[in-house]
Amino acid sequence: DTIGANLDRAVAAWPDREALVDVPSGRRWTYARFGADVDRLASALLASGVVKGDRVGIWAVNCPEWVLVQYATARIGAILVNINPAYRTHEVEYVLNQAGVSVLFASLSHRSSDYRAMVDQVRGSCPGLREAVYIGDPSWDALLGRATPHTLHPELSCDDPVNIQYTSGTTGFPKGATLSHHNILNNGYFVGESIAYSEQDRICIPVPYYHCFGMVMGNLAATSHGACMVVPAPSFDPKATLEAVQRERCTSLYGVPTMFIAELNLPDFADYDLSTLRTGIMAGSPCPVEVMKRVVAEMNMAEVSICYGMTETSPVSTQTRRDDDLGHRTGTVGRVLPHIEVKVVDPATGVTQPRGTGGELCTRGYSVMLGYWDEPEKTAEAIDAGRWMHTGDLAVMREDGYVEIVGRIKDMIIRGGENIYPREIEEFLYGHPKIQDVQVVGVPHERYGEEVLACVIPRDAADPPTLEDVRAHCEGRLAHYKIPSRLQLLDAFPMTVSGKVRKIELRERYGA
Ligand code: ATP
Ligand code: MG
Repeated sequence: DTIGANLDRAVAAWPDREALVDVPSGRRWTYARFGADVDRLASALLASGVVKGDRVGIWAVNCPEWVLVQYATARIGAILVNINPAYRTHEVEYVLNQAGVSVLFASLSHRSSDYRAMVDQVRGSCPGLREAVYIGDPSWDALLGRATPHTLHPELSCDDPVNIQYTSGTTGFPKGATLSHHNILNNGYFVGESIAYSEQDRICIPVPYYHCFGMVMGNLAATSHGACMVVPAPSFDPKATLEAVQRERCTSLYGVPTMFIAELNLPDFADYDLSTLRTGIMAGSPCPVEVMKRVVAEMNMAEVSICYGMTETSPVSTQTRRDDDLGHRTGTVGRVLPHIEVKVVDPATGVTQPRGTGGELCTRGYSVMLGYWDEPEKTAEAIDAGRWMHTGDLAVMREDGYVEIVGRIKDMIIRGGENIYPREIEEFLYGHPKIQDVQVVGVPHERYGEEVLACVIPRDAADPPTLEDVRAHCEGRLAHYKIPSRLQLLDAFPMTVSGKVRKIELRERYGA
């Protein structure tokens, strides 16, 4: 199916069920109304001269119009280009030109970002940009005014590109993955199937739509199963998220581990009624065991699912299932999804490793992207001749078929010839009473090549741990070469919009 055809089926099957709720404004859409509004916007885009294959950009924080634009562009075969709402003029100009965006949807403003003013600044240097439409502005109504009742839609194939999604930029500059209807619609469907979504489910989506977590694992998983998408706030806000779960009686909640940590640490956390939750998805980075235990016990999410994937693979490759026990849900990222293959190879030789032995994870199947937009060399580096996507992640395929993610190849620390995996040390330091959150990175060292730096957010800023505290905690329990030799105290970590810690920035800032 194409995304448009799949939406038509949802509208026919569940016309009166709720499809979309915007909590901040109180606006609601049934599937019938959602389908009609998507069609109207699609018709308006066609009337504005957008044709199949044109790139339409969206530079906006989460709002219902984001979702309408996602489905309307898919319906007419346009390619939606997701633009990071944290970008400023220099970056947006680059993306608009690199992807050749002709029509841009943008938020008017959010917090200190005045999107319209920034678009006005770069317009002169983006010759391909014909039109900018602002959400919640007369320009949006003017666009919709061009819709006609009967529009002929172009012929589409499910292998057509539908989206350029950018990676988080955790390890460097974000890369634009070109994805087809087939890629992301199937992935959304199978992710939803693993956690038994139905038209009874209401999914709270506080993760950005800009990123695959929101628009595929959220929106496409919802609409392909008739579930409801609940938008709690324009950008992540732990209080607004729990309020939305309570008010909208959500059954599922999404987040990266840092978001769940922020929610659990709210002073009034115990006052929220989260009894309607049954499941949810945690993904994007490794989840500390203690956090997972609290999510299950205190947020009522007994069936919370861990997903592993990357933007380039639509995104999810492995997932824990409903009946997996806590051990599998904390120690592994589950088993491979249907119709996807995984293998673990020795990064140096490319030889497939036996089960139980670590190496680089490679994935293959319907979910592998068409390629990086207009960057054939980068695509060739990532996808080999056998169509295997090289993930850059170190993993172990266990005897029982569950996959463990050990860490990113780029984050591995090599100290005096010993390989050190930051996650092991982070997990261990997390148990220290004075440590609220911790990231471990390798920084240059004259003699050892690299040494271990622990970046710590203290639980109590007035009583932070010292390097001696940290070392004493590890002494005798971790091998000497893994024990941090440097400590950096911080109030917060540098983050990507998708909620991941940018270790590269920690290394740059504190490596000297
Ligand atoms: P960039 O490629 O720009 O450096 P990124 O890799 O963080 O950024 P994404 O595509 O958003 O961009 O994230 C994919 C990566 O996130 C994976 O390669 C993996 O390292 C990490 N990841 C995703 N899910 C998990 C998980 N459940 N556990 C551990 N790591 C995960
Ligand atoms: Mg990546």
